[in-house]
Amino acid sequence: MSYRAPKGTYDVYPGGREPHERPELWAFVEERARDQFRRYNYSEVRTPIFEETQLFARSAGEASDIVVKKEMFSFTDQGGRDLALRPEGTPGAIRAYIEHGLYKQAQPLKLFYVGPMFRQERQQKGRYRQHTQIGVEVLGSTDPLVDVEVISLLYAIHQAAGVEDEMIYLNNLGDLETRRLYVPELRAFLRRHRDELDPDSVARLETNPLRTFDSKAENTQALLAEAPTIGDFLSPEAAAHLEAVKGGLEALDIPYEVDERLVRGLDYYTLTVFEAKSGALGAQDTVGAGGRYNGLVAELGGPDLAGIGFGSGVERILLAAASHEASSSLGVFFVTLAPEARTLAMRLASALRAEGVACDLDYAGRSAKGQFRQADRSGAAYAAVIGEDELARGVCTLREMSSGEEKAVPAAAKDLLRAVAG
Ligand code: ATP
Ligand code: MG
Repeated sequence: MSYRAPKGTYDVYPGGREPHERPELWAFVEERARDQFRRYNYSEVRTPIFEETQLFARSAGEASDIVVKKEMFSFTDQGGRDLALRPEGTPGAIRAYIEHGLYKQAQPLKLFYVGPMFRQERQQKGRYRQHTQIGVEVLGSTDPLVDVEVISLLYAIHQAAGVEDEMIYLNNLGDLETRRLYVPELRAFLRRHRDELDPDSVARLETNPLRTFDSKAENTQALLAEAPTIGDFLSPEAAAHLEAVKGGLEALDIPYEVDERLVRGLDYYTLTVFEAKSGALGAQDTVGAGGRYNGLVAELGGPDLAGIGFGSGVERILLAAASHEASSSLGVFFVTLAPEARTLAMRLASALRAEGVACDLDYAGRSAKGQFRQADRSGAAYAAVIGEDELARGVCTLREMSSGEEKAVPAAAKDLLRAVAG
């Protein structure tokens, strides 16, 4: 009997081959992201990884991939409740915002999350059934400078993580008035070309024809080159919002382009939508994406407050990041050459760990040579050798691994600490 990880999932383990299988790279990206969240003054929100199916369906909308392509992992619990593993972070965060009355706090409320998302889709490079998103939701403000902050934070996280060759694509899907004018025009155009559309786009003709722009079918995309674009229909308010966001991105020197054909996979977006793409990725080149959702909080039963957010896939960040050289942080590897030395090594390691120095020792009964090799392989800065001779003199022989230089240091935590710190 042998078991394998479920289809579309992967493990993160020491020595993992792909960047997203390597634990030290996960720690690196998460630390960089949390550091940016601190600098931008965002607070963490943690919500369950499962919620009522209806919350996700209502939020994503009936024309979304999540609903149309049945991407949700849903199930019925023993109490007969319809639940689903979360396909994205926004619905849970907004549910919590409403449930706990967070709109009574000072607004806008700036939230971030890091966690796994689940979608039943065809596995490809950069596309998994469980993936992890780093995301934010900023609730309670319509200020276009909030859009600028959110986009600049997405960009800052990617830059801090080493994402290469990045460009932000920006569009404005308009407000209700814009859609009222534009959607019938687009639908009329698509109906005239119904025969040339892929089946998903036909299915969305009546529900949300805007989503047709997100189609991956070549015929549909070729046809869309002739379609009316939303830019010509923007209301004065929506056009002013777009100009303000562009102005802000220019002021911050964020590389961006307006793409009037950018829509996004979820129905709830209004006004600003954006995607961050990297030239370092193949077919799945979107590293992160998001947009404004001014009607969604009310739609989910809360007050009529605005919101904007993004989600960025950690797997794709790692695939698009240039430098995967994560250095070891091990300070001291203890090499013990006599059975009695092991207890002393353990005690010294414990004292150094308490002071913040990472330490390790041999538990495999290796020879002296084997222990030195292990010290080297582990990337330790120092090897601290304790044998019969050192025990008799009350010292360790401290070897700096990079230079090979050795000196005797009293076998006491404070002396060792001074030697390895200085
Ligand atoms: P796509 O067009 O690639 O299907 P999407 O519109 O479904 O993307 P979002 O829902 O906006 O993507 O998710 C935000 C980010 O999460 C994406 O930009 C990507 O980095 C990541 N992501 C989404 N789905 C997956 C997946 N199945 N596997 C890995 N990462 C994913
Ligand atoms: Mg998708």
